[in-house]
Amino acid sequence: MKKIIGLTGGIGSGKTTVAKFIENCGFPVYYSDDRAKTIVNDNEAVKNKIKELLGADSYDENGIYNRKFVGGKVFNDEELLHQLNGIIHPAVRLDFEEWVAKQTKYLIFKETALLFELKLNLQCYKSILVTAEDNIRLKRVMDRDGKTYREVETVMSNQMPEKDKIKLADFVIHNNTNLDDLKEQTEKIVFEIE
Ligand code: ATP
Repeated sequence: MKKIIGLTGGIGSGKTTVAKFIENCGFPVYYSDDRAKTIVNDNEAVKNKIKELLGADSYDENGIYNRKFVGGKVFNDEELLHQLNGIIHPAVRLDFEEWVAKQTKYLIFKETALLFELKLNLQCYKSILVTAEDNIRLKRVMDRDGKTYREVETVMSNQMPEKDKIKLADFVIHNNTNLDDLKEQTEKIVFEIE
């Protein structure tokens, strides 16, 4: 029986870095956000539904998803965002199920920013939360993406508060120091679950 472990964290917490350490331990990771980005470009049924909902301009002349246009449409329109998520999330769920079926390892990981928000933790054997102090996360994302303080802070303030996520997680990784420490914490948890 395969065990699915949910891996989550807010913006800049370090969940992707942790996911890479997990892959180095020999376990597969499904990257939900990356897959969602592929699906909106490759899945014809999804593309058609998005165009129906938001208009043909949701894709450019080469058929590539216009993130800026779509973002502008759903910004400040909760109902429209809800409908857009209603197209994308089920497609990602299906894609994940297909990926799970193909895996041969007994321990597999699902990286997603929305583990608790979408209650995906209920389908997981265990959950791991990566967290770090807000000012550290802000700095890391500003350095990584060249974003402004305000841009990162806006995303952060729209995510579920860390204190609520900590209550829901089976394992918590505090990523406030260096990468060696992060790796050590990750491996300890992986081998404990194993
Ligand atoms: P997002 O949700 O924005 O995709 P994330 O949670 O996946 O973020 P990462 O991309 O793993 O976070 O980490 C954010 C940035 O911080 C990256 O540039 C990463 O290399 C760096 N970083 C993560 N942890 C540490 C650490 N302990 N020490 C130094 N840099 C770190």
